[in-house]
Amino acid sequence: MAQVVIALGSNEGDRLTYLGEGLRCCMQLAGNSSGQPLLKSSVYESEAVGPADAPFLNAVAAFECLLPPERLLANLKQTEAAQGRDFSAVRWGNRPLDLDIISCGGLILDSSFLTIPHKSCHERAFVLMPLAEILPAWRHPRLNQTAAELLGQAPKMQVYKTALLW
Ligand code: ADP
Ligand code: MG
Repeated sequence: MAQVVIALGSNEGDRLTYLGEGLRCCMQLAGNSSGQPLLKSSVYESEAVGPADAPFLNAVAAFECLLPPERLLANLKQTEAAQGRDFSAVRWGNRPLDLDIISCGGLILDSSFLTIPHKSCHERAFVLMPLAEILPAWRHPRLNQTAAELLGQAPKMQVYKTALLW
């Protein structure tokens, strides 16, 4: 059993509903034998970057999971697809739901289709802010720095905590 951190994002359609569907998926993946509750951050809003042209809602969830990372990724992709994600669309473009594995305990993994910790998490303020909120003691397994420390070095971008409930 490992503590898994998932980043959720949406910048298309009813964004809050899509985040909720992502959270539902996380709840189903959470092992129910650990006694550890799933942690979820507040909902944040961030400016669009790259080819995306509408602002994102972002959040992070953390939970204990028994699945191996490859199975976890397959489950997340299935949920993205069920919410209408078009995998042929331009990379980093608009999407109803994006679910990324940020970390999986202290695991370090680099395969052709899965990198853990997530390749870009240390430079994404929209991941680091919600992560620092729910897990202040979390450390990047490769860089051995906390989310708050990484946030201090990350490229500046506009990320706001919202009052939205999910
Ligand atoms: P991003 O999440 O970087 O904005 P995508 O959601 O389009 O981009 O992901 C593209 C691919 O990245 C996925 O098909 C997946 O196979 C791969 N990938 C590699 N590592 C991870 C990870 N830690 N979490 C989620 N996807 C990952
Ligand atoms: Mg993704």
